[in-house]
Amino acid sequence: MPYQQGSRLPGERASRLGHLEVMDYPLVKQLLANFNQQYRPEECNTINWSPLPAAEETLKYIFVVDGSLQQIDHDQYPYSSVSFIKTALLKLDTYALEKVDPETPHPFVIQDILRESVTSHSTILPLRNTWTEGKTIYDTIRDTIYHSICDTSPNMDGQILDTLKWIAYKKWSDSRDGLPEFQCPYGHEDQKHLTSLPYDSDKGICSVCGNEIYITDFLGFHLDMGEDSAPPTIASTYMIIHETLLLFTALRIFWENHKDLISECLFIKDGPLSIRAQYSKLVEPIRQFFEYAKTSGYPIHMMGQEKSGMFYDHLQFLGPDAPKKSFLLLQDEYIKKHIQCRPIGGAPYGKDTNYGAKLFIKQNNYHMMVLNIPFGKYKQNPQPDDLIGYTRIISTIPKIISNRYEGALLPIELANNIASLSTYPSSKMLKLFSESQN
Ligand SMILES: [Zn+2]
Repeated sequence: MPYQQGSRLPGERASRLGHLEVMDYPLVKQLLANFNQQYRPEECNTINWSPLPAAEETLKYIFVVDGSLQQIDHDQYPYSSVSFIKTALLKLDTYALEKVDPETPHPFVIQDILRESVTSHSTILPLRNTWTEGKTIYDTIRDTIYHSICDTSPNMDGQILDTLKWIAYKKWSDSRDGLPEFQCPYGHEDQKHLTSLPYDSDKGICSVCGNEIYITDFLGFHLDMGEDSAPPTIASTYMIIHETLLLFTALRIFWENHKDLISECLFIKDGPLSIRAQYSKLVEPIRQFFEYAKTSGYPIHMMGQEKSGMFYDHLQFLGPDAPKKSFLLLQDEYIKKHIQCRPIGGAPYGKDTNYGAKLFIKQNNYHMMVLNIPFGKYKQNPQPDDLIGYTRIISTIPKIISNRYEGALLPIELANNIASLSTYPSSKMLKLFSESQN
């Protein structure tokens, strides 16, 4: 690590002279010779892609969610870091999207579509050397996450907190259970203890230590933090959780107020339908809701699109030789063996973290995508019939394709533009703004 820039002298620049020596180092040479690179095994060439199902009626309404974040590091003493996060939800209708030219969308047409159809949320999380008076960074972050989820500004109106409670307490069902036990944020080192909150509460008092705990503590952000700093993953995890809650807010409002229309909606998430590590506590109730809605006669149509990562890379190997208008629904053994490259005997892929199955879809040579579609109860080896509303989702895709990027969907492209922090406001502006507050 080079020395950081001070107020008088510039920072130290990392030397590149050391590169030559590293490449000659015997251990580095030996390791380099043994590493495998991603390749396409013979078995993958013989895998059978299935033809896409015959088209059914397309879905009428589209909800799409996306988020972005920008970490701002102040490079002068006291070297503070904060992360700006923005998420956005768009409501679109398929009929209007069909009128958009997929090659060169007219800005006025897009403007009309987006008018009054966008809701967004923004917040800021401290990561280093930034805190509220009288509190540690640990507690400042916990408080900030709770108050950000509560967001009562006109845009959000407390709806995200309602959705978190709706999922965590399974409020669509007759259940009146409290939260499953979780580790109390006040239980440091030898005072570790479990705690819980009763049905429908936003916050409460821990029955073991008597301190105030929040419903957001249930998600476990504090397990990733230290007393005096937090890793940047806290911000990216907050963003993913908020995106998920925002999409489920649209779903919940339709479920509660327009149930007759809910099965005409397509809910789209930019990214996989999964929640990682300790945060995956939301996954099981989400799966149960999908199953419940299906058996009640109101199937929910949702999909996630992965635009990077292991599955995306694998599709780049496989896709060019696959037949047009075909799909491949990925099975547990295939994922472990060819995509994760791990022993096939281990835990089933995504058992605790995923609420959708992964599939590759090839429309033509330019439109190949990695999609996730929910399956309700977890399926290790899902079949097409297990994927909820699969045929109608697939039938809607050709109506919302964008020709501006390979494998692109217009709703996700629009949501990217709205949620993006790197272009508007610019990161320089964010930096100036956060400095002027100090
Ligand atoms: Zn406690």
